[in-house]
Amino acid sequence: MKRLPIAVACLTFLCLSMPLAAQREGDPAILQKIRAEGTERSEVMTMFDQFVTVIGPRLTGSPEYKAAADWARAKLAAWGLARPSLESWEFGRGWALDRLVVEILEPRYMPLIAYAEAWSASTPRELVAAPVYVGGAATAADVAAIKDKLAGAIVLSQPIVTGFVREDRVQPATSETSVRIGAPPMPRQGTLNQADARQVAQTLREARPGAILRSSAGEHGTVFVLGRDQGENASPTIVLAAEHYNMVARMVEKNVPVRMRVHMQTRFLTSDTKGYNVVAELPGTDPALKDEVVLLGAHLDSWHTSTGATDNADGSAAAMEALRILKAIGARPRRTIRVALWGGEEQGLLGAREYVKAHYAGDLNRDARERVAVYLNLDPGMGPIYGWYSEGNAAAKGIFDAWGAPLKDLGVLKNIEAGIGSTDHVAFREAGIPGFNPVQDYLTYDVRTHHTNVDTYERIREQDLKQNAIVLAWIAYNAAVTDQKFARPEPRAPRQP
Ligand SMILES: [Zn+2]
Repeated sequence: MKRLPIAVACLTFLCLSMPLAAQREGDPAILQKIRAEGTERSEVMTMFDQFVTVIGPRLTGSPEYKAAADWARAKLAAWGLARPSLESWEFGRGWALDRLVVEILEPRYMPLIAYAEAWSASTPRELVAAPVYVGGAATAADVAAIKDKLAGAIVLSQPIVTGFVREDRVQPATSETSVRIGAPPMPRQGTLNQADARQVAQTLREARPGAILRSSAGEHGTVFVLGRDQGENASPTIVLAAEHYNMVARMVEKNVPVRMRVHMQTRFLTSDTKGYNVVAELPGTDPALKDEVVLLGAHLDSWHTSTGATDNADGSAAAMEALRILKAIGARPRRTIRVALWGGEEQGLLGAREYVKAHYAGDLNRDARERVAVYLNLDPGMGPIYGWYSEGNAAAKGIFDAWGAPLKDLGVLKNIEAGIGSTDHVAFREAGIPGFNPVQDYLTYDVRTHHTNVDTYERIREQDLKQNAIVLAWIAYNAAVTDQKFARPEPRAPRQP
């Protein structure tokens, strides 16, 4: 019995010294724990399902977005992460769709695939009428000449769609050639020049139609739909599947006596005009480095015509799961690892920009800004993480090469020297903070999934989400213990993506 205190003392000494011994880059024992936790006890599908199935579309400013943010905050708190909180900023009116009916009544009945543009106004009432097709007009003057006919009418505003999005961008993971960054441009429709197109839009606004029907360049029933708040006098605007839009327009052109029913009821929400970010962290343990931050982020908001599975419930679920894994295995990172879920990404990186403004902008925040070691963002594409875009920085690529090496069996094979745009890391890079995105697939992403009515549960595979979380946890851990530093980009003025 007398010997026990010595044994206890030894154990205590071992326990105290172990975390320090474990705080090194590339530690295989940590990786093994991350893999086991992320594979055998994964909770990533719980988060994904909550966002996609239980809550659904998470348009910024909607009660559903707020519900998702509240739920995520509570989950992060329940895992024991530190300082789980919502940070808000002024956004503007929210919007909700209560009803949308778009049907052909005569000469035969047919419901049509159609979606409200986000923040669209309601139709003044249920409209039952022959549609007016102005999309075939050769000049703006032709539309101006029938302006009186457009008041209160169901207006087909766009030419018949002939150019469709039929190819995804080059797949970065498998492409041998240089990676083409960004989505393919939307094909141009019709023959109006830009000045005439602007004039037609102006005539339509002034004419106060009952509803504007237009199409997107998606095919096979895929509909790309965005939208933003156009203020009080905006026209009710509905986006139809191209094939259905074209069918109606052709019937009108052939003088088939078409009658339609169009009824849209929407609401503007003004009781809460704030946007929200969700933040929580795993505190650092090294007295000299614990105030430095490795930030892991993804946007939680989505568009409204689907459930935002790839854009970006997958990224949000994986980022949360990465922090859960690190907490669960008892990781003691030297730097603090913080997770942030942004709102308002789809309206222009608003949440990330507001966060940067609040915490890292200007001379006053210089120290805080310089203490952000790196921002890791998860948004573009879907599927496994193959590596990272190095934003033109060869040293960063070298770091990612080394950290990715033990993950080859999980498909981590390729870091790319180029950078990408159009997502939340831009807000950080503009402030001079190094920010990176993983390389993922764009398979059917551009033609079918991105900002469409079919960005649904089916686009995502469970094994990919698990892989994403394991890779993120590992990379974030290494970034939080390394002695290396990512080079800091030149700050530049914010630009709309
Ligand atoms: Zn998006």
